[in-house]
Amino acid sequence: MRTVLISGGGIAGPVLAHRLRHHGFRPTVVERAPGPRAGGQAVDIRGVALDVVDRMGLLERASRVRTRMRGMSILGPDGSEVDRSTEATFSSGRLDGEDIEVLREDLVRMVHEHTRADVEYLFGDSITGLDEDESGVRARFTHAAPRTFDLVVGADGLHSTVRRLAFGPEERFVHHLGSYLSVFGTDNFLALEDWQMWLRDGAGLRPGDAAVGSTPAFIQSDYGKPGNFEVVVRTADGRLGHWWRINGAPWTWNDGGRFASGIAHYGPALVQTRARHLDLVAALTDGRMQLWWRDDPNGFAWRAGEIFGSGTAAVSAPCLIEGQYGAADEDTAGNYELCVAVAGGRVEHWWRGNAGGSSWRRSAVFGHDVAAVTGMLQGSFGFNLEVIVLRTDRRLQHYWRDGAGWHEGSVIGPV
Ligand SMILES: Cc1cc2nc3c(=O)[nH]c(=O)nc-3n(C[C@H](O)[C@H](O)[C@H](O)COP(=O)(O)OP(=O)(O)OC[C@H]3O[C@@H](n4cnc5c(N)ncnc54)[C@H](O)[C@@H]3O)c2cc1C
Repeated sequence: MRTVLISGGGIAGPVLAHRLRHHGFRPTVVERAPGPRAGGQAVDIRGVALDVVDRMGLLERASRVRTRMRGMSILGPDGSEVDRSTEATFSSGRLDGEDIEVLREDLVRMVHEHTRADVEYLFGDSITGLDEDESGVRARFTHAAPRTFDLVVGADGLHSTVRRLAFGPEERFVHHLGSYLSVFGTDNFLALEDWQMWLRDGAGLRPGDAAVGSTPAFIQSDYGKPGNFEVVVRTADGRLGHWWRINGAPWTWNDGGRFASGIAHYGPALVQTRARHLDLVAALTDGRMQLWWRDDPNGFAWRAGEIFGSGTAAVSAPCLIEGQYGAADEDTAGNYELCVAVAGGRVEHWWRGNAGGSSWRRSAVFGHDVAAVTGMLQGSFGFNLEVIVLRTDRRLQHYWRDGAGWHEGSVIGPV
Protein backbone atom coordinates (compact mmCIF):
# COMPACT_ATOMS: atom_id res chain seq x y z
CA MET A 1 0.00 0.00 0.00
CA ARG A 2 1.56 3.27 -1.10
CA THR A 3 -0.98 5.88 -2.12
CA VAL A 4 -3.42 7.47 0.33
CA LEU A 5 -6.16 9.97 -0.49
CA ILE A 6 -7.11 12.19 2.45
CA SER A 7 -10.27 14.23 2.19
CA GLY A 8 -9.97 17.49 4.18
CA GLY A 9 -7.08 19.91 4.47
CA GLY A 10 -7.89 21.23 7.98
CA ILE A 11 -5.82 19.98 10.91
CA ALA A 12 -6.20 16.20 10.89
CA GLY A 13 -5.69 15.81 7.12
CA PRO A 14 -2.30 17.54 6.72
CA VAL A 15 -1.00 16.13 10.03
CA LEU A 16 -1.84 12.59 8.90
CA ALA A 17 -0.30 13.32 5.50
CA HIS A 18 2.92 14.42 7.20
CA ARG A 19 3.18 11.27 9.28
CA LEU A 20 2.32 9.03 6.28
CA ARG A 21 4.95 10.76 4.14
CA HIS A 22 7.45 10.27 6.94
CA HIS A 23 6.76 6.54 6.79
CA GLY A 24 7.14 6.27 3.02
CA PHE A 25 3.55 6.66 1.76
CA ARG A 26 2.44 9.03 -1.01
CA PRO A 27 -0.44 11.06 0.41
CA THR A 28 -2.78 13.34 -1.56
CA VAL A 29 -4.98 15.83 0.30
CA VAL A 30 -8.17 17.05 -1.38
CA GLU A 31 -9.62 20.23 0.17
CA ARG A 32 -12.89 21.80 -0.83
CA ALA A 33 -11.77 25.38 -0.11
CA PRO A 34 -9.60 27.16 -2.71
CA GLY A 35 -6.64 27.25 -0.24
CA PRO A 36 -5.86 26.53 3.42
CA ARG A 37 -9.17 27.33 5.05
CA ALA A 38 -9.05 30.19 7.56
CA GLY A 39 -11.54 30.69 10.37
CA GLY A 40 -12.69 28.59 13.30
CA GLN A 41 -11.76 29.30 16.87
CA ALA A 42 -8.88 27.56 18.61
CA VAL A 43 -7.32 24.13 18.87
CA ASP A 44 -5.76 22.94 22.11
CA ILE A 45 -2.61 20.87 21.74
CA ARG A 46 -2.59 18.56 24.74
CA GLY A 47 -1.34 15.14 25.83
CA VAL A 48 -0.27 12.97 22.90
CA ALA A 49 -0.96 15.88 20.52
CA LEU A 50 2.10 17.58 22.04
CA ASP A 51 4.20 14.56 21.01
CA VAL A 52 2.74 14.66 17.50
CA VAL A 53 3.52 18.37 17.07
CA ASP A 54 6.98 17.78 18.51
CA ARG A 55 7.68 14.92 16.08
CA MET A 56 6.54 17.14 13.22
CA GLY A 57 9.14 19.68 14.32
CA LEU A 58 6.49 22.33 14.96
CA LEU A 59 6.54 22.62 18.74
CA GLU A 60 8.60 25.78 18.89
CA ARG A 61 6.64 27.44 16.10
CA ALA A 62 3.32 26.52 17.73
CA SER A 63 4.57 27.90 21.06
CA ARG A 64 5.41 31.22 19.41
CA VAL A 65 1.86 31.77 18.13
CA ARG A 66 -0.01 30.31 21.11
CA THR A 67 -2.88 32.27 22.60
CA ARG A 68 -2.08 34.15 25.80
CA MET A 69 -5.30 33.96 27.79
CA ARG A 70 -5.28 35.93 31.05
CA GLY A 71 -8.22 34.17 32.70
CA MET A 72 -11.99 33.97 32.80
CA SER A 73 -15.02 35.30 34.62
CA ILE A 74 -18.29 33.51 35.33
CA LEU A 75 -21.35 35.75 35.32
CA GLY A 76 -24.63 35.09 37.08
CA PRO A 77 -28.03 35.48 35.42
CA ASP A 78 -28.04 39.24 36.17
CA GLY A 79 -24.63 39.76 34.56
CA SER A 80 -22.72 40.23 37.82
CA GLU A 81 -19.43 38.41 38.18
CA VAL A 82 -19.78 35.43 40.54
CA ASP A 83 -16.33 33.93 40.06
CA ARG A 84 -13.08 34.59 38.26
CA SER A 85 -9.91 32.63 37.67
CA THR A 86 -6.52 33.71 36.46
CA GLU A 87 -5.28 30.10 36.77
CA ALA A 88 -7.43 28.29 34.20
CA THR A 89 -10.13 28.85 31.62
CA PHE A 90 -12.83 26.38 30.58
CA SER A 91 -11.57 26.16 27.00
CA SER A 92 -7.80 26.53 27.45
CA GLY A 93 -7.33 24.55 30.67
CA ARG A 94 -4.60 25.53 33.12
CA LEU A 95 -2.75 28.63 31.97
CA ASP A 96 0.55 27.61 33.58
CA GLY A 97 0.52 24.13 31.98
CA GLU A 98 2.57 22.84 29.07
CA ASP A 99 -0.47 22.69 26.76
CA ILE A 100 -0.50 25.01 23.77
CA GLU A 101 -3.63 26.68 22.47
CA VAL A 102 -3.36 27.95 18.90
CA LEU A 103 -5.94 29.75 16.78
CA ARG A 104 -7.30 27.23 14.28
CA GLU A 105 -6.32 29.26 11.25
CA ASP A 106 -2.74 29.66 12.52
CA LEU A 107 -2.47 25.90 12.96
CA VAL A 108 -3.99 25.20 9.53
CA ARG A 109 -1.52 27.58 7.90
CA MET A 110 1.39 26.11 9.86
CA VAL A 111 0.72 22.46 9.00
CA HIS A 112 0.04 23.32 5.35
CA GLU A 113 3.29 25.27 4.96
CA HIS A 114 5.15 22.47 6.68
CA THR A 115 3.78 19.74 4.38
CA ARG A 116 3.20 21.35 0.98
CA ALA A 117 6.63 20.46 -0.44
CA ASP A 118 6.13 16.71 0.15
CA VAL A 119 2.37 16.29 -0.07
CA GLU A 120 0.14 16.69 -3.11
CA TYR A 121 -2.72 19.13 -2.41
CA LEU A 122 -5.84 19.37 -4.59
CA PHE A 123 -7.56 22.60 -3.53
CA GLY A 124 -11.04 23.61 -4.63
CA ASP A 125 -12.12 20.01 -5.18
CA SER A 126 -14.12 17.31 -3.46
CA ILE A 127 -14.68 13.55 -3.71
CA THR A 128 -18.03 12.70 -5.33
CA GLY A 129 -17.84 8.91 -5.42
CA LEU A 130 -15.82 5.97 -4.06
CA ASP A 131 -15.74 2.48 -5.62
CA GLU A 132 -13.66 -0.23 -4.03
CA ASP A 133 -12.27 -3.33 -5.76
CA GLU A 134 -9.21 -5.58 -5.45
CA SER A 135 -6.91 -2.96 -6.99
CA GLY A 136 -7.85 -0.21 -4.50
CA VAL A 137 -10.42 2.57 -4.17
CA ARG A 138 -11.45 4.45 -7.30
CA ALA A 139 -12.21 8.07 -6.32
CA ARG A 140 -14.23 10.44 -8.48
CA PHE A 141 -13.90 14.21 -7.99
CA THR A 142 -15.92 17.31 -8.80
CA HIS A 143 -13.11 18.60 -11.02
CA ALA A 144 -10.08 16.29 -11.16
CA ALA A 145 -10.04 13.13 -13.25
CA PRO A 146 -10.84 9.86 -11.40
CA ARG A 147 -7.88 8.17 -9.72
CA THR A 148 -7.26 4.94 -7.82
CA PHE A 149 -5.70 4.98 -4.34
CA ASP A 150 -4.70 2.19 -1.99
CA LEU A 151 -6.52 3.85 0.91
CA VAL A 152 -8.99 6.73 1.42
CA VAL A 153 -9.21 8.59 4.72
CA GLY A 154 -11.96 10.99 5.78
CA ALA A 155 -10.59 14.03 7.63
CA ASP A 156 -13.27 16.33 6.27
CA GLY A 157 -14.80 17.50 9.52
CA LEU A 158 -18.11 17.08 11.30
CA HIS A 159 -20.18 16.76 8.12
CA SER A 160 -17.74 14.38 6.47
CA THR A 161 -18.37 13.52 2.82
CA VAL A 162 -16.21 10.38 3.06
CA ARG A 163 -18.29 9.12 5.99
CA ARG A 164 -21.48 9.69 4.00
CA LEU A 165 -20.11 7.93 0.92
CA ALA A 166 -18.72 4.99 2.90
CA PHE A 167 -21.27 4.51 5.66
CA GLY A 168 -24.48 6.31 4.69
CA PRO A 169 -26.40 9.49 5.62
CA GLU A 170 -24.90 11.54 8.44
CA GLU A 171 -28.21 11.56 10.35
CA ARG A 172 -27.25 8.07 11.48
CA PHE A 173 -24.05 9.35 13.11
CA VAL A 174 -24.49 13.02 13.99
CA HIS A 175 -26.81 13.84 16.87
CA HIS A 176 -27.52 17.48 17.46
CA LEU A 177 -27.35 18.37 21.15
CA GLY A 178 -29.24 21.64 20.84
CA SER A 179 -26.23 23.92 21.34
CA TYR A 180 -25.24 26.75 19.05
CA LEU A 181 -21.93 28.61 18.99
CA SER A 182 -21.10 31.72 17.11
CA VAL A 183 -17.55 32.99 16.58
CA PHE A 184 -16.87 36.46 15.21
CA GLY A 185 -14.36 39.28 15.46
CA THR A 186 -15.17 42.64 17.03
CA ASP A 187 -13.46 45.78 18.26
CA ASN A 188 -12.09 45.45 21.77
CA PHE A 189 -14.38 48.15 23.16
CA LEU A 190 -14.86 46.37 26.53
CA ALA A 191 -11.12 45.80 27.12
CA LEU A 192 -11.67 42.04 27.21
CA GLU A 193 -8.76 40.95 25.09
CA ASP A 194 -7.56 37.44 26.05
CA TRP A 195 -10.27 37.18 28.70
CA GLN A 196 -13.17 34.71 28.69
CA MET A 197 -16.62 35.39 30.09
CA TRP A 198 -19.16 32.64 30.69
CA LEU A 199 -22.78 33.39 31.41
CA ARG A 200 -24.65 30.93 33.62
CA ASP A 201 -28.39 31.18 33.33
CA GLY A 202 -30.48 30.01 36.26
CA ALA A 203 -28.00 28.55 38.73
CA GLY A 204 -29.23 26.39 41.57
CA LEU A 205 -30.45 22.94 42.43
CA ARG A 206 -33.09 21.45 40.22
CA PRO A 207 -36.12 20.21 42.18
CA GLY A 208 -36.49 16.51 42.73
CA ASP A 209 -32.93 15.62 41.75
CA ALA A 210 -31.39 14.05 44.82
CA ALA A 211 -32.25 10.41 45.43
CA VAL A 212 -34.14 9.82 48.66
CA GLY A 213 -31.82 8.31 51.27
CA SER A 214 -28.67 9.39 49.46
CA THR A 215 -26.24 11.36 51.60
CA PRO A 216 -24.36 13.97 49.58
CA ALA A 217 -20.59 14.08 49.71
CA PHE A 218 -19.56 17.54 50.91
CA ILE A 219 -16.06 19.03 50.94
CA GLN A 220 -14.37 22.39 50.64
CA SER A 221 -11.97 22.52 47.71
CA ASP A 222 -9.18 25.03 47.17
CA TYR A 223 -10.80 26.62 44.14
CA GLY A 224 -11.33 30.29 44.89
CA LYS A 225 -10.54 32.14 48.11
CA PRO A 226 -11.96 30.99 50.45
CA GLY A 227 -12.30 27.61 48.75
CA ASN A 228 -15.52 26.59 47.05
CA PHE A 229 -17.94 24.10 48.56
CA GLU A 230 -18.33 20.98 46.43
CA VAL A 231 -21.35 18.69 46.74
CA VAL A 232 -21.96 15.47 44.84
CA VAL A 233 -25.14 13.45 45.30
CA ARG A 234 -26.75 10.43 43.69
CA THR A 235 -29.76 11.50 41.72
CA ALA A 236 -33.09 9.75 41.43
CA ASP A 237 -32.26 8.47 37.95
CA GLY A 238 -29.14 6.62 39.18
CA ARG A 239 -26.66 9.27 38.10
CA LEU A 240 -24.43 11.70 40.00
CA GLY A 241 -25.08 15.43 40.28
CA HIS A 242 -22.38 17.94 41.20
CA TRP A 243 -23.02 21.40 42.64
CA TRP A 244 -20.54 23.94 43.84
CA ARG A 245 -20.74 27.24 45.66
CA ILE A 246 -18.33 30.11 45.58
CA ASN A 247 -17.86 31.26 49.14
CA GLY A 248 -18.60 34.90 48.49
CA ALA A 249 -21.52 37.02 47.31
CA PRO A 250 -24.02 36.24 45.88
CA TRP A 251 -23.62 32.80 47.55
CA THR A 252 -25.38 30.95 44.76
CA TRP A 253 -25.01 27.21 44.16
CA ASN A 254 -23.83 26.41 40.63
CA ASP A 255 -24.76 23.34 38.68
CA GLY A 256 -21.53 21.42 38.01
CA GLY A 257 -23.24 18.91 35.75
CA ARG A 258 -24.79 15.49 35.71
CA PHE A 259 -22.58 12.48 34.99
CA ALA A 260 -22.22 8.68 35.37
CA SER A 261 -25.06 6.17 35.16
CA GLY A 262 -26.09 2.96 36.87
CA ILE A 263 -25.12 4.33 40.29
CA ALA A 264 -26.67 2.31 43.12
CA HIS A 265 -25.03 3.94 46.16
CA TYR A 266 -23.00 7.06 46.72
CA GLY A 267 -22.08 8.98 49.85
CA PRO A 268 -19.04 10.32 51.72
CA ALA A 269 -16.47 9.57 49.03
CA LEU A 270 -15.21 12.81 47.49
CA VAL A 271 -11.54 13.88 47.61
CA GLN A 272 -9.61 16.73 46.06
CA THR A 273 -6.29 15.36 44.81
CA ARG A 274 -2.85 16.99 45.03
CA ALA A 275 -3.23 17.71 41.30
CA ARG A 276 -6.45 19.58 42.27
CA HIS A 277 -8.76 17.14 40.49
CA LEU A 278 -11.82 15.85 42.28
CA ASP A 279 -11.98 12.05 42.73
CA LEU A 280 -14.93 9.99 43.95
CA VAL A 281 -15.93 6.34 44.17
CA ALA A 282 -19.52 5.11 43.84
CA ALA A 283 -21.13 1.66 43.93
CA LEU A 284 -22.68 0.49 40.67
CA THR A 285 -25.94 -1.41 40.23
CA ASP A 286 -23.93 -4.54 39.31
CA GLY A 287 -22.30 -4.49 42.78
CA ARG A 288 -18.86 -3.30 41.67
CA MET A 289 -17.34 0.11 42.43
CA GLN A 290 -16.12 2.78 40.06
CA LEU A 291 -13.88 5.81 40.39
CA TRP A 292 -14.93 9.05 38.69
CA TRP A 293 -12.65 12.06 38.40
CA ARG A 294 -13.07 15.64 37.32
CA ASP A 295 -10.60 16.61 34.63
CA ASP A 296 -10.01 20.26 35.44
CA PRO A 297 -7.59 21.20 32.64
CA ASN A 298 -9.96 19.78 30.03
CA GLY A 299 -13.11 21.75 30.66
CA PHE A 300 -13.82 20.59 34.23
CA ALA A 301 -15.43 17.45 32.77
CA TRP A 302 -16.21 14.39 34.93
CA ARG A 303 -14.62 11.25 33.49
CA ALA A 304 -15.02 7.54 34.21
CA GLY A 305 -12.10 5.86 35.97
CA GLU A 306 -11.33 2.30 36.98
CA ILE A 307 -13.96 -0.26 38.00
CA PHE A 308 -13.10 -2.67 40.80
CA GLY A 309 -14.69 -5.10 43.23
CA SER A 310 -14.32 -8.50 44.87
CA GLY A 311 -17.28 -10.30 43.36
CA THR A 312 -19.33 -9.76 46.52
CA ALA A 313 -21.76 -6.94 45.82
CA ALA A 314 -21.36 -3.57 47.52
CA VAL A 315 -24.64 -2.82 49.31
CA SER A 316 -23.95 0.70 50.58
CA ALA A 317 -22.12 3.84 49.63
CA PRO A 318 -18.34 3.48 49.89
CA CYS A 319 -16.49 5.79 52.29
CA LEU A 320 -13.27 7.14 50.79
CA ILE A 321 -10.44 9.12 52.36
CA GLU A 322 -6.88 9.96 51.40
CA GLY A 323 -4.77 8.70 54.27
CA GLN A 324 -1.18 9.26 55.25
CA TYR A 325 0.16 5.82 54.35
CA GLY A 326 2.20 5.89 51.16
CA ALA A 327 2.94 9.62 51.38
CA ALA A 328 6.64 10.45 51.49
CA ASP A 329 5.87 13.81 53.06
CA GLU A 330 2.97 16.19 53.47
CA ASP A 331 3.27 17.41 49.86
CA THR A 332 2.89 13.98 48.26
CA ALA A 333 -0.26 11.94 47.82
CA GLY A 334 -1.17 9.35 50.42
CA ASN A 335 -2.99 6.13 49.67
CA TYR A 336 -6.73 6.04 49.19
CA GLU A 337 -8.48 4.07 51.94
CA LEU A 338 -12.00 2.86 51.24
CA CYS A 339 -14.50 0.87 53.29
CA VAL A 340 -17.79 -0.43 51.93
CA ALA A 341 -20.53 -2.73 53.25
CA VAL A 342 -20.95 -5.81 51.10
CA ALA A 343 -23.55 -8.58 50.87
CA GLY A 344 -23.52 -10.82 53.93
CA GLY A 345 -23.26 -7.90 56.36
CA ARG A 346 -19.50 -7.56 56.19
CA VAL A 347 -17.14 -4.66 55.44
CA GLU A 348 -14.45 -4.71 52.75
CA HIS A 349 -11.41 -2.47 53.14
CA TRP A 350 -9.75 -1.45 49.87
CA TRP A 351 -6.75 0.79 49.24
CA ARG A 352 -4.95 2.29 46.28
CA GLY A 353 -1.35 3.55 46.34
CA ASN A 354 -1.43 7.00 44.78
CA ALA A 355 2.32 7.65 44.75
CA GLY A 356 3.17 4.74 42.43
CA GLY A 357 -0.18 4.71 40.64
CA SER A 358 -1.01 1.17 41.78
CA SER A 359 -4.42 -0.39 41.28
CA TRP A 360 -7.10 -0.96 43.93
CA ARG A 361 -6.45 -3.83 46.33
CA ARG A 362 -8.70 -5.39 48.91
CA SER A 363 -6.80 -5.75 52.14
CA ALA A 364 -9.38 -7.11 54.58
CA VAL A 365 -12.95 -8.27 55.15
CA PHE A 366 -14.29 -7.70 58.65
CA GLY A 367 -17.38 -7.05 60.75
CA HIS A 368 -20.83 -8.61 60.94
CA ASP A 369 -24.43 -7.46 60.67
CA VAL A 370 -23.31 -4.32 58.84
CA ALA A 371 -25.88 -2.50 56.71
CA ALA A 372 -23.73 0.49 55.70
CA VAL A 373 -20.39 2.15 56.34
CA THR A 374 -21.31 5.68 57.36
CA GLY A 375 -18.02 7.37 58.22
CA MET A 376 -14.30 6.85 58.05
CA LEU A 377 -11.20 8.78 59.12
CA GLN A 378 -7.55 8.32 59.89
CA GLY A 379 -6.97 9.43 63.44
CA SER A 380 -3.91 11.02 64.96
CA PHE A 381 -4.13 8.22 67.53
CA GLY A 382 -1.50 5.86 66.09
CA PHE A 383 -2.62 6.79 62.55
CA ASN A 384 -5.27 4.08 62.91
CA LEU A 385 -8.15 3.90 60.47
CA GLU A 386 -11.44 4.48 62.28
CA VAL A 387 -14.81 3.44 60.85
CA ILE A 388 -18.39 3.86 62.03
CA VAL A 389 -20.94 1.45 60.58
CA LEU A 390 -24.71 1.29 60.69
CA ARG A 391 -25.78 -2.20 61.76
CA THR A 392 -28.80 -4.09 60.53
CA ASP A 393 -30.37 -3.55 63.99
CA ARG A 394 -30.09 0.23 63.35
CA ARG A 395 -27.35 0.74 65.92
CA LEU A 396 -23.96 2.26 65.25
CA GLN A 397 -20.73 0.40 65.81
CA HIS A 398 -17.08 1.40 65.81
CA TYR A 399 -14.31 -0.58 64.11
CA TRP A 400 -10.65 0.38 63.91
CA ARG A 401 -7.44 -0.82 62.33
CA ASP A 402 -3.99 -0.65 63.87
CA GLY A 403 -0.79 -2.48 63.03
CA ALA A 404 -2.36 -5.76 64.14
CA GLY A 405 -5.38 -5.51 61.84
CA TRP A 406 -9.07 -4.60 62.18
CA HIS A 407 -10.75 -4.67 65.60
CA GLU A 408 -14.38 -4.64 66.61
CA GLY A 409 -15.17 -1.70 68.85
CA SER A 410 -18.17 -0.78 70.91
CA VAL A 411 -21.75 -0.59 69.80
CA ILE A 412 -22.51 3.08 70.19
CA GLY A 413 -26.24 3.19 70.72
CA PRO A 414 -29.59 3.56 68.99
CA VAL A 415 -29.86 5.76 65.94
C1 LIG B 1 -16.89 27.30 17.51
C2 LIG B 1 -15.82 26.28 17.75
C3 LIG B 1 -14.91 26.49 18.77
C4 LIG B 1 -13.92 25.55 18.99
N1 LIG B 1 -13.03 25.78 20.00
C5 LIG B 1 -12.05 24.88 20.24
C6 LIG B 1 -11.09 25.10 21.27
O1 LIG B 1 -11.12 26.10 21.99
N2 LIG B 1 -10.13 24.15 21.47
C7 LIG B 1 -10.07 23.00 20.67
O2 LIG B 1 -9.18 22.17 20.87
N3 LIG B 1 -10.95 22.79 19.69
C8 LIG B 1 -11.93 23.69 19.45
N4 LIG B 1 -12.84 23.45 18.46
C9 LIG B 1 -12.73 22.19 17.70
C10 LIG B 1 -11.68 22.25 16.58
O3 LIG B 1 -11.94 23.36 15.75
C11 LIG B 1 -11.78 20.94 15.80
O4 LIG B 1 -11.58 19.84 16.67
C12 LIG B 1 -10.74 20.85 14.69
O5 LIG B 1 -10.86 21.92 13.80
C13 LIG B 1 -10.94 19.53 13.96
O6 LIG B 1 -9.97 19.42 12.95
P1 LIG B 1 -10.26 18.55 11.67
O7 LIG B 1 -9.06 18.63 10.79
O8 LIG B 1 -10.75 17.21 12.08
O9 LIG B 1 -11.52 19.23 10.95
P2 LIG B 1 -11.71 20.71 10.41
O10 LIG B 1 -10.81 21.67 11.08
O11 LIG B 1 -13.18 20.95 10.44
O12 LIG B 1 -11.24 20.58 8.91
C14 LIG B 1 -11.99 19.87 7.95
C15 LIG B 1 -11.58 20.34 6.58
O13 LIG B 1 -12.25 19.53 5.62
C16 LIG B 1 -12.71 20.34 4.57
N5 LIG B 1 -13.82 19.68 3.92
C17 LIG B 1 -15.08 19.50 4.36
N6 LIG B 1 -15.79 18.80 3.49
C18 LIG B 1 -14.97 18.52 2.45
C19 LIG B 1 -15.12 17.82 1.24
N7 LIG B 1 -16.28 17.27 0.89
N8 LIG B 1 -14.07 17.73 0.39
C20 LIG B 1 -12.88 18.30 0.72
N9 LIG B 1 -12.66 18.99 1.86
C21 LIG B 1 -13.71 19.08 2.72
C22 LIG B 1 -13.08 21.66 5.25
O14 LIG B 1 -13.10 22.73 4.32
C23 LIG B 1 -11.97 21.80 6.27
O15 LIG B 1 -10.86 22.47 5.77
C24 LIG B 1 -13.83 24.37 18.20
C25 LIG B 1 -14.76 24.16 17.17
C26 LIG B 1 -15.73 25.11 16.94
C27 LIG B 1 -16.72 24.86 15.83
